Amino acid sequence: MLRVISKIIFMIVLSQSIIFSQEAPRWRAHDLKRPKSKIITPPAQYLPLKPPSDAVILYDGTDLSKWEGMDGEETKWINGDDYFECFEGSGYIRSKQAFGDIQLHVEWAAPLPVEGKSQGRGNSGVFLMGLYEVQVLDSYDNITYADGQAAAVYGQYPPLVNAARPPGEWQAYDIVFHRPHFNSLGMLVKPARLTVFHNGILVQDNVELWGGTDWQKYKPYRLHPDKLPISLQDHGNPVRFRNIWVRELPEVQEEAPNYPPAITLDNDVLDKYTGSYEEKGDDEDWAVRIVRQGSKLYLLRGEIRRDEMIPHSKEKFSLRFTAIDLVFKLDNSGAPVEMNLTFTGDTTVFEKTE
Ligand code: MG
Repeated sequence: MLRVISKIIFMIVLSQSIIFSQEAPRWRAHDLKRPKSKIITPPAQYLPLKPPSDAVILYDGTDLSKWEGMDGEETKWINGDDYFECFEGSGYIRSKQAFGDIQLHVEWAAPLPVEGKSQGRGNSGVFLMGLYEVQVLDSYDNITYADGQAAAVYGQYPPLVNAARPPGEWQAYDIVFHRPHFNSLGMLVKPARLTVFHNGILVQDNVELWGGTDWQKYKPYRLHPDKLPISLQDHGNPVRFRNIWVRELPEVQEEAPNYPPAITLDNDVLDKYTGSYEEKGDDEDWAVRIVRQGSKLYLLRGEIRRDEMIPHSKEKFSLRFTAIDLVFKLDNSGAPVEMNLTFTGDTTVFEKTE
């Protein structure tokens, strides 16, 4: 009997540990016990921040032609003097252009006079791909749950610090967003990542999103296109926005050019290169050495520079991962008499002295 009971207990413990070992512990969304971000004072006003030449301008103060309602109709948000403003019932808006990986600059101001509290005060949101919200809220002297304050990844990550400005003052988010990646079966292979600066202060440091953001809801990732519009939230508060621009980030790394393959030279051949080399010419002031260690040659320049030499032929070497080429002149026995070191188009000629 005792054996049966202990076996059952063992099975329960095992099954629990399997269930709980699948995911790292997380805070529950909107948990009031989660520590609030420390309040700091951001640096002096530096806004508006002008866009760089490669930015896509989504709002420059003139009109809302780059935005539309979620139904594709013209947005109802009010275009003011160099800003635009949400009003209750106007609905979310989205950019007409869709984006994947981006750098995004958004300026916003919480409403004056102050009305409401917690989530009801100056609430809006910047939704990357329309799915992943960086919270907009009047977080100046306004208590709410940690993962719902300004610059939180809503319901997931509170900001590292609370860098909010008072309501009515312009504030900025500078966001770096990397979209999630899915495989051909629609399964997540790479979660979305977010970095956010609030008023110039790092508040989200390349965090990995758990999925879509929502209120009181866990929203696992679901397959979606590589590019989707950015949306802004109507939460019923007259939050203002201005100066919105985006830089699209390249997703594919530039391919490095092929370099001649390395060859292997026997140690007795490598030994022929070792020794001292002095710069040719009147002011023979630059001397270098080549040494062998194991099956590798190293170029020694002064006290600290020691670079591995990669052989491509008996005449041609390069320095590992550095755009320096070494071309040797060899005598009849295959021993170097001269070395040409080329860097950024300039060649220095050395002669072997010992
Ligand atoms: Mg919001």
